[in-house]
Amino acid sequence: MATDVKSLTREELELQFKDWGQPAYRVTQLLEWLYVRHATDWDAMTNLPKNLRDQLRGHFSLQNLELVRKQGSHDTTQKFLWKLADGQYIESVLIPANPALYGEASDRHTLCISTQVGCAYGCKFCASGLDGWKRNLLPNEIVEQILAAERTAAKPQTPDAKPPPRLVDNIVVMGMGEPLANYDHLLKALKILNAPWGGGIGARKITVSTSGLVPQIRKLADEPLQFRLAISLHGATDEVRNRIMPVNKKYPLKELAAACQDYQGKKGRMITFEYILIAGVNDSIEQTKPLAALAKKLFAKVNLIPYNKVEGLPWERPSEDVCEKFLAALQKQKVTATLRREKGHDIDAACGQLRLKTEREAA
Ligand code: SAH
Ligand code: SF4
Repeated sequence: MATDVKSLTREELELQFKDWGQPAYRVTQLLEWLYVRHATDWDAMTNLPKNLRDQLRGHFSLQNLELVRKQGSHDTTQKFLWKLADGQYIESVLIPANPALYGEASDRHTLCISTQVGCAYGCKFCASGLDGWKRNLLPNEIVEQILAAERTAAKPQTPDAKPPPRLVDNIVVMGMGEPLANYDHLLKALKILNAPWGGGIGARKITVSTSGLVPQIRKLADEPLQFRLAISLHGATDEVRNRIMPVNKKYPLKELAAACQDYQGKKGRMITFEYILIAGVNDSIEQTKPLAALAKKLFAKVNLIPYNKVEGLPWERPSEDVCEKFLAALQKQKVTATLRREKGHDIDAACGQLRLKTEREAA
């Protein structure tokens, strides 16, 4: 299959265009069609000569994600289910201004994106891993989630109007899949989304979440781009983590903490711990002690997320009172912590749930 044009960097396109004897400004025009004007087919690129368009069509694919299902909640969080070229499904979630969590107060929209179809890591509470891992997403399939969400959510434009600024200015890589297990494609996609000629989204507005892949965290620490890092901790002792996250057997807490320290030291920025509160598993006040100790050691902020019930799994969300008390106990120990008073709870917002539902209905 041909490489998709949205998997390529500016430099790669320039080399190809040079080969074709095309001037460099044609690349600029092409990139503007792709990343500013959201063009979905070659013939829309009216300022490119017809022979160049034919050459592009013959050489690259230009894939668009197909929207198959959309859910919106009362607080206007929207969840999209996309169909890929090979018929697989993935999800993205669009969350309006959510300043307290991952970005600064100027947030417009955060998009939560997927990096794999399914997930191989099999965390016991998660819908994404229930049917195992199918495949890695290609760079263009990661990039396209932002463009497709913008096309779907944006107000209709007149053809000649000046394109509006990006709707999505914050990305969290917390959808389906383990991003660091698809490292090369993820990095390429994030470079394209970050580049001024591409998405133009600042690296500090991009958060990568991982269940704790130690070698890749260390690798990411050595990348020049300053992405934010979130660790899906969900337990502050090996005992709790081993019970719900198989990855902890391979990379126990001590090794994970050392890799986080390395990241923190090299980047000089705050790490976030994601901590889902699951009734009777990790929500006792006792657990706040090791959690606070770890957070303080790593200068990490803690995001508490009440568990979203997944059909067919035995885990339950604790009561609001338990969640509030857990938060208060952390704060008393001088940890920076927030409690997500859930957005999108009513639309299966946790990763993988909409895909699972759709596939089970179809079966
Ligand atoms: N694989 C990566 C990124 C995707 S998961 C990771 O695990 O970090 C994104 C986040 O959603 C993770 O923190 C994950 O633990 C959490 N999550 C998964 N299922 C959930 C559920 N049912 N309720 C709440 N959060 C959930
Ligand atoms: Fe995979 Fe993350 Fe879900 Fe674990 S929580 S199964 S790593 S997507």
